[in-house]
This record gives sequence, C-alpha cells and structure tokens, in this order.
Amino acid sequence: MQRILSTVFSFALILTLSCGKASTSIGRPNVILIIIDTLRADHLSCYGYQREISPSLDSLAATGTRWENCQAQAPWTLPSTASIFTGLNARQHGSGRRLDGDHRLHSEVPVIPTIFSDAGYRTCGIFNVVLLNENHGFARGFDYYSCDDLGARRAAISVDEFLRWLESGSDERPFLAVLHFFDVHEPYDPPSPYDKLYFPDDTLEVSYWEITESGWIAHPEHLEHFLSRYDGGITWVDTQLGRLFSELRFRGYEDNTIIMVTADHGEEFLEWGWVGHGGHLYQELVHVPLMVSGPGIPSGEVITETAALFDILPTLISICSIEDTFHFEGVDLFSSDGRNPRAIPSSQLSYRGQMFGETPLAAVVYGRMKGLVTRKVGIDSYYMFDLLNDPHEQAPLESDSLMTELLDYYRATPMLWDPPGVHDLDSSSTRALEDLGYI
Ligand SMILES: [Zn+2]
Repeated sequence: MQRILSTVFSFALILTLSCGKASTSIGRPNVILIIIDTLRADHLSCYGYQREISPSLDSLAATGTRWENCQAQAPWTLPSTASIFTGLNARQHGSGRRLDGDHRLHSEVPVIPTIFSDAGYRTCGIFNVVLLNENHGFARGFDYYSCDDLGARRAAISVDEFLRWLESGSDERPFLAVLHFFDVHEPYDPPSPYDKLYFPDDTLEVSYWEITESGWIAHPEHLEHFLSRYDGGITWVDTQLGRLFSELRFRGYEDNTIIMVTADHGEEFLEWGWVGHGGHLYQELVHVPLMVSGPGIPSGEVITETAALFDILPTLISICSIEDTFHFEGVDLFSSDGRNPRAIPSSQLSYRGQMFGETPLAAVVYGRMKGLVTRKVGIDSYYMFDLLNDPHEQAPLESDSLMTELLDYYRATPMLWDPPGVHDLDSSSTRALEDLGYI
C-alpha cells in the first residue's frame, strides 16, 4: 500500500527549482495548447458520440494520439485549469478554494508559460473567462496575453487574434500558445446557423434552469434543445479549429508544431438532476478529451490507461526536450510512468459545494475503479464504481480498503502553494463573476 500511495501521490518536500534560460531553443517544436471550456469527451465523434459533430478534432485525433480516459482535476474552470497550468492536483495548488477569497494562482508556482518562456519560447495566451484573467494569476509568463472576462468573444475572433500574433514575431524562437475557447459553455448560444444545426425548430423558446428554494432545477422537456445547442457550439468551435489548422498548414507550421486539445471539465444534462457543472464529480463532469498531434507523435494511437489534466505540462515539456527540474504530480504520458496504473484524483474544492445538500469531497480513479466520498449532514460516505461495467455510475459499490485509503490520502494532501487572496479584484472582474453566476 505504501508503495502505491507514494507512487500515486508523491509530494515530498518541494523546493522551487528554477529553470535556467535554455542555451538554445532553436529546433524545438512550437506548441499550441487548446482548452475548450465545458467540452465533455463523450460529445466528440472520436469518443463515440452518435452525432458527427467534430470533424476537425476527429481528424486531429486520427493523425495523432488520443487518450480514451482523461480525468479533469475539478468540475469547474479555475482549479481544473490551474492543474493544467501547474501539473499539480487541485489540493496541491489550492487555487479555487474559495470564490470570495483565496483562490488565485500563487505568484511563484511554475506554470506552462513561465516554464516555456524560460526555455526560450515566445508565448501567447488568449482566454475567454474572468476566472482565467490576470487577476487570477493566469497572465504570468505570457509575452502576449488577452482575456475577455465575460466569455463573449467568439472562437473566430480568438483564432484571428492568434494568427495576427503569430505573424507579428520576427525572431526564430519557437512559440507556445494557449488558446481557451468559451463558446461551448452555457448559455449554449453559438452563432447562426450553428444554433439550429441540430434542432431546426426555431419556434421553441430556450428555457434554461431556474433557481428555486429547493435549488437549481431544469426543464426536462427542453433537454433535446439544450443538447442541440451545446452540440452546435461544439461544431462551431470545431469549424474554427479546422480553419486554424488549415492556416497553420498554409503558413508552413505543420511540420514543426505540436497541437494538443483538451477541456477543463464537462457538463451535466440532467443525469444528476440539473444542467451545468461544478456540483458533482461524476464522469459527465470529469471525463474530458485529450489528444495531441504533431512531429514525433504516434499517429492513430488510442491509449486507454487513465490520464489526467495534470499530465499535460510534464508531457509537453518532455516533447519539447525542456529539462524537468520541477515537481509535478503528473507524469509524461509517453513515458512508462504514463502507462502504469496510477490513482488520479479530482475534487470540487469550493464551487457550489452544497448542491442538493450533499458535498462531493473527492474522487479517485484507479484502473477501472472510481472511488467517491461525499458528505451529507456531517457524515462522510465512501462509494466505489466499476467504470468498465457501470460507466454511468448507477450502481455504487461498497468502497474497499484500498480505495478508501486512496481517497483519504488525497484528502490529506497538503497544499504546496498557498494561493493569495483576490480581495483586490477590480470591479469589472467582480461584475463579470456575478454575470456568469459564479458569485
Ligand atoms: Zn470551465
């Protein structure tokens, strides 16, 4: 047991190990990391979705490597994206513990843009939600950074902005770009004709959930409408990514650019009583897509071993031959570590923690089994699901001693980087948080 625990949650005393400026970055590949907010894996055709809605991403996956089972580290944007940025699990980086207080990224934790910048890359970050803005610590390390706090900037605008930045550089350094798209997120409002692509009845008024005394509810009769507009948003983003990929080929970047695509979390559509995300740790929310394509990446490979969002950073720096002098919870997915069974943890931290009176405290996927611990009226309950036979988590099993110990071990994980508060959030950020329903 101890060996397993030390293997899966190794967080011995950590020191910040700075990465010196690389002597040369010439010859290293460019990297584009694409994060599609709220995109659940099972709504992509390459993950078996019945609708053919994502030809560009399906094609990218076919030419590269796709992970069948990637787990997000949290069911909402801030802590999950922080895990992508830091290579740490949500308890270790601590970002997102409280929406009204301590939750921004620590100002010294090594993150993707600082690591690549120190290695000689020029860096570009384009984001589209307030939780990933400069006040939350996500601009550090980017030479060029922009964020639309309200998520209103369409994918086409973000792609154009990136292409303009791409042509603005005059040196020979490789680039890192992190592109975050918000178009799939509620209110499921893709531009025409994508809004009616899969549900042409335009006489039906969209009826979103409403808040009542008993909590948030949705209207089941409108589920098909929700799903059609959600899927339309996926096709809209996929179309823009297809345009981006074509432009990269046309401009000669195809042979020296790594493209990785993932999502920060998924979305529920009444599987557990409501529509949205943040309130649970079920697979609808934490099973996310992960694919990578580019020079040296195995083509057409599908990997079934469980991967995690915190594996993205160690995998990318390995691909780019950047020396790994950092502490990561994640591993290089192309190394033997990425093929060995590991416990992959997720937690909700703070957001909507009291949904339906039950708080999901932590989840751990280990092989085909998934453990879950929840708290209701002060009592913790441990469950276990066999994801192979019960992928929709309908038949909870009694947690065995190994899973219980893994869950407790994760819950006891100390924070490595104490996130500073955000009490100095400017008024526009606070308004954006309110408009998006976060506070
Ligand atoms: Zn999100």
